[in-house]
Amino acid sequence: MTRFAKGRRVIVWEEPVFGPVEATPRLDSSICGESGVRVLTPVLPEGSAREDHEAMLRTLLDTVVASIQGDIIRWYYTPMMLPFSRHVDAACVVYDCMDELANFKFAPPELTLLERELMGDADVVFTGGYSLWEAKRDRHPNIHPFPSSVDRAHFAKARVLRGEPADQAALPWPRLGFYGVVDERMDLDLLAALADARPEWSIVILGPVVKIAPEALPKRPNLHYLGGKDYEELPRYLAGWDVALMPFAINESTRFISPTKTPEYLAGGRPVVSTPIVDVARHYGELEAVKIAATPEAFVEACDEALALSRLRGDWLKAVDTTLAALSWDETFGRMNLEIGRAAGARRKPATPGQIGAAALASSAVRPAGRKKPFDYLIVGAGFAGSVLAERLASQLGKRVMLVDRRPHVGGNAYDEKDAAGVLMHKYGPHLFHTNSEEVANYLSQFTRWRPYEHRVLACVRGGLHVPIPINRTTLNELYGLKLATDAEAEAFLKSRAEPVEKVRTSEDVVISAVGRELYETFFRGYTRKQWGMDPSELDKSVTARVPTRTSTDDRYFADKFQNMPADGYTRMFENMLDQPGITLELGVDFEEIRDEADFDRLIFTGPIDAYFDYRFGKLPYRSLEFRHEILDQEWFQPVGTVNYPDEAVPYTRISEYKHMTGQSCPKTTITYEFPRADGDPYYPVPRPENQALYKRYEALAMETRDVQFVGRLATYRYYNMDQVVGQALATFRRIAEREGRTLIAAQAAAQAVAAN
Ligand code: FAD
Ligand code: UDP
Repeated sequence: MTRFAKGRRVIVWEEPVFGPVEATPRLDSSICGESGVRVLTPVLPEGSAREDHEAMLRTLLDTVVASIQGDIIRWYYTPMMLPFSRHVDAACVVYDCMDELANFKFAPPELTLLERELMGDADVVFTGGYSLWEAKRDRHPNIHPFPSSVDRAHFAKARVLRGEPADQAALPWPRLGFYGVVDERMDLDLLAALADARPEWSIVILGPVVKIAPEALPKRPNLHYLGGKDYEELPRYLAGWDVALMPFAINESTRFISPTKTPEYLAGGRPVVSTPIVDVARHYGELEAVKIAATPEAFVEACDEALALSRLRGDWLKAVDTTLAALSWDETFGRMNLEIGRAAGARRKPATPGQIGAAALASSAVRPAGRKKPFDYLIVGAGFAGSVLAERLASQLGKRVMLVDRRPHVGGNAYDEKDAAGVLMHKYGPHLFHTNSEEVANYLSQFTRWRPYEHRVLACVRGGLHVPIPINRTTLNELYGLKLATDAEAEAFLKSRAEPVEKVRTSEDVVISAVGRELYETFFRGYTRKQWGMDPSELDKSVTARVPTRTSTDDRYFADKFQNMPADGYTRMFENMLDQPGITLELGVDFEEIRDEADFDRLIFTGPIDAYFDYRFGKLPYRSLEFRHEILDQEWFQPVGTVNYPDEAVPYTRISEYKHMTGQSCPKTTITYEFPRADGDPYYPVPRPENQALYKRYEALAMETRDVQFVGRLATYRYYNMDQVVGQALATFRRIAEREGRTLIAAQAAAQAVAAN
């Protein structure tokens, strides 16, 4: 509100309080800090009838409204304020929905009805988190999630502040603390269990006790209830805790909370232990600093771990700061302000009742007769993500789909074609199909026969020795002149070389902890530095973790149950998939060219997500490759499908020969060299924490972009294999089908209601 107060008059209207019986209704007024925000508290006579309150509040409000010149924005945190304010003429009505209030203890019965009215009245709705947005998004056409941000500088003071508040100073260490309203959302049994399990810990609870009797709070010698504190004081208390707590009960009233204190605690440099609140797990669950525990035993254990962490100012804190860097109230303010401006602009345009109805329906899948667009869906990108969705939507839901790709062919990066020598080759490097998912294999089997093929790769090391990669027993024997005969012997050998790594984080850690430095340098360091343009120590562990280490002599590159190549190639498989009534394919068309004029209801975008949003937050790094394809006048070039070249002095990473994969026989052969590049077509998302943090900002934007879905390797910035993209597309389709089912039912109900009237 402070930010909104710049250049505007902001008045906060509080819940009424009650004064003497004989008092006439009045408004108490105060100014909040330096913000200029005026807080008005209605004071009503004690004992006055509840049914008279509305009229009293309305009269008081009207005196305030009469003093205002210019446009008014009505901004509601609760629908309960609607009855005495709904008549006020406003340029924009905002519903800032912070919780599923109807699930709260003592929630008034009229709340649900009033919320329905407010949803109808509001020009724009904000929700205090994603779960809440997911629950309410079908209720309003202009609804946006705004999970809590954080005033980092304010709470970061907890990292440096010395000198404790008097009521906390004497408490023994270690200390675990919570601040916030103490109400029915707090898991009191959990608090008691925690205090009992670790009597030597001090558990500090700050905040007013609301809606529950103080006697209901568990009492223990190490449980300290210090009462409510000012926002200004919180960092000083936090500074005296080792670990911050979120001991919320998991029930209806906490299903949609998105606690602001999570980023605040983290900004204060404290590890957090929480019960499994959906939005906490969703936004922060991947951080080492945030432990989620569902049972009292697990919660105590998680507190032990968090305490251990709090003693080290290590990488966990860096990861916290990277995540928090993307959060700021200024950005929240900017985006809210923009939405309010847009909503007010839309309200100013006079609309006929017919138009209002149409606008409300524009976001639903079912249109009134006469407004049918030529396409239900525009899908951008004819790779796996786009083609699977086009096929499913057309064949299963009877949708009319326009599928476009800027390339002159289907298949995305999996595209293959016969070259001048008649060899079926992969234009964008070797694509080997492998999966453990029966669903994915069965789905694709409708469009292709398969040719059994298990990919094998050799690494060219030490100036010319060819040994199997992934490292297996044969690799070790050939490299070191050993005769390791069993898995156990190979395992013992690797163990003697492996270097323990306390916490495996990076792509270097993964390999060194499994096989030691020498094998790491022989097989991984150079290859990775070439492929990614950075050291493995700078890349997330997931990159090199793709390549296992084996103690057996299994020399297959993949271990999946299903390893086959499409018998007639990928392109033919895509053609079969897209040969459906309802699909219109336009190749050589860039989305940007048609963005403004294409006529469709919904969009599925499978290109780079940052490009879709015009690089609003900056470019997401994608790694590229240059392919050099060669036709050789010889039957074979190398003994296996791919040979890797980890040596940094060699400019390419690998050479692949397609005939091994396709089983073709032909007097000539075709090979492809891969030269990693920083610029060029985006092929690989680069798994690093800061890139993930940047992607999360785009993802947040994507989530609130109505009627657009982002699917695939580039659009969800995930280093996915083909089968994972197919799985993701099928899951997206299931969600669409479910939603369409719901919308259809809702539309029918609405139509029936109209007919009945
Ligand atoms: P893509 O295949 O990239 O398709 C996206 C499409 O969108 C592209 O065709 C692009 O032209 C189009 N597009 C983007 N922006 C626009 C726009 N603005 N307008 C119009 N069209 C647009 N996976 C495996 O399982 N096994 C392997 O062996 C394997 N090997 C690989 C080797 C290499 C060299 C590479 C780069 C990837 C490999 N993969 C492999 C991964 C595989 O390619 C991907 O998982 C899969 O192709 C991703 O499908 P997609 O639909 O998400 O993206
Ligand atoms: N890698 C390596 N040496 C190898 C093979 C792989 O260092 O011989 C590392 C490298 O960082 C590579 C990653 O492991 O990018 C994943 O390998 P994969 O073969 O899965 O890569 P992709 O086929 O996706 O390019």
